[in-house]
Amino acid sequence: MIEDDPVLQRMYISKLTEGGYEVDLARDGSEGVYKALNTNPDIVLLDLVLPKVDGFHILAEMRKNPKTQKTPVIIMSNQGQAEDATKALKLGADDYIVKLNNPPSTVIKKIQALLSQTKATKAIYISRYRIKIDATQADAPQLVRDFALIFFCVQCKTTRILELMHDYTLPGPGHPFVAQFVCPICRSVY
Ligand SMILES: [Zn+2]
Repeated sequence: MIEDDPVLQRMYISKLTEGGYEVDLARDGSEGVYKALNTNPDIVLLDLVLPKVDGFHILAEMRKNPKTQKTPVIIMSNQGQAEDATKALKLGADDYIVKLNNPPSTVIKKIQALLSQTKATKAIYISRYRIKIDATQADAPQLVRDFALIFFCVQCKTTRILELMHDYTLPGPGHPFVAQFVCPICRSVY
């Protein structure tokens, strides 16, 4: 959390700690930009008006850095100006709230939502399902013609499998997957 107001610091630290989160506080913009880039936070709560370095600058620095490019950032603003919100979202903020209009419980809900989204994105690359295919059945021969696909591995001659990965990021009903043909032995991908 990058926040310079002592009242808000105390309030949010107490609520977030109660909610089971570990909070690392930065009291001004220069401490904030250092901690954001170097402490590998799961999420950043970012005030816009800060001593030394403002929130927009911190956000821009985070988005330029490969380490923090995808770290979720919630802007916690004092003002409700539309142009601030637009600017922050354009710079890559994930969410924007006006502190006066929102109790900490709202912020906690947004944190939970953003963290579970991040987890789901990471999970795509973890949960893989290997499916055996019959190269003579259904559309398999067509697939061979259209993509010059070879159903056995050219390196080790093992029959390739179809590897499915659940894609939580695709909207819509059902369970969308991304798929590729992989050799189960040498892992080479078609
Ligand atoms: Zn192989």
